[in-house]
Amino acid sequence: SGTAALHLALILAGVHAGDYVICQSMTFSASANPIAYLGATPVFIDSETSTWNMDPELLEEAILNLAKKSIKPKAIIPVHLYGMPAKMNELISIGEKYNVPIIEDAAESLGSTFKSKATGTYGSMGVLSFNGNKIITTSGGGALISDDISFIEKAQFLATQARDNAPHYQHSKIGYNYRMSNILAGVGRGQMLVLEDRILQRRRINNWYRSFLSGIAGVNFQSEPNEEYYSNFWLTAITISPELTGKTREDIRMNLSADNIESRPLWKPMHLQPVFKKSPYFGNGVSDKLFEHGLCLPSGSNLTGVDQERIKDSLLNIIN
Ligand SMILES: *Cc1c(COP(=O)(O)O)cnc(C)c1O
Repeated sequence: SGTAALHLALILAGVHAGDYVICQSMTFSASANPIAYLGATPVFIDSETSTWNMDPELLEEAILNLAKKSIKPKAIIPVHLYGMPAKMNELISIGEKYNVPIIEDAAESLGSTFKSKATGTYGSMGVLSFNGNKIITTSGGGALISDDISFIEKAQFLATQARDNAPHYQHSKIGYNYRMSNILAGVGRGQMLVLEDRILQRRRINNWYRSFLSGIAGVNFQSEPNEEYYSNFWLTAITISPELTGKTREDIRMNLSADNIESRPLWKPMHLQPVFKKSPYFGNGVSDKLFEHGLCLPSGSNLTGVDQERIKDSLLNIIN
């Protein structure tokens, strides 16, 4: 799974109990849980307003603040939320400046690129997910990617129960059963052939939502800041300003729900999660606002024309 891949990535980055790992706050809990598996402490960083991902200024502030307490974080985990590439230029240069490796959580962004280079390939390691809800799927699964062959070899060793090179079963390290089954790997190879199509379908759905919502004051889309960013638009996400629309996010979500259309609030940031309430957090209020006002719209690549008409009618009925 993507979660297992992240767990392995953190082990390879040398994370041990008592260490600190920096993580984007605005994400799914799987980005942060593996930090806790290792007994390390997550340090959560808020988002910037353009991509909704890790704010580089707050990242640097956090590193400097930890340094005052003689703490050097072991890794930085930015996320490409809903497929939108994070500000990788800035994040990578901060990682290099302070010599902290970046592990990209690209679980939602397979096929997205920044400056024509795939998300997940900027950091020293990257994590993909093929869970059932992702843009392509093996029903459950994931991958750890890196161009450092020593990481890959160690990951393969740990993911297959850490078996030493001996004819009998011998173990000098604790291993994991994190290997993907060959049947699911076969499904994944088939899915790779349709990835380009799926991305185009998701981007078409995103454009379709924009065609009737982007003119409405108070409705804002998560958007590519400029042509350097290319999102797979895994999910189309909007924010609703109640002052301008006269409606709250919940008004809209409940109205869709009454019409039997599922939509969801954005991820609840990790710094607001009961389980992480004691973790350090560097914030600016952006992810709190995204959580309060944000909505993920139905974005499946299998939406039919009839589905789309129903969604459009329901949205325009409540917003107008
Ligand atoms: C889905 C997801 C994961 C975890 O992937 P699994 O394959 O479900 O373990 C990690 N991070 C993010 C941001 C995700 O959306």
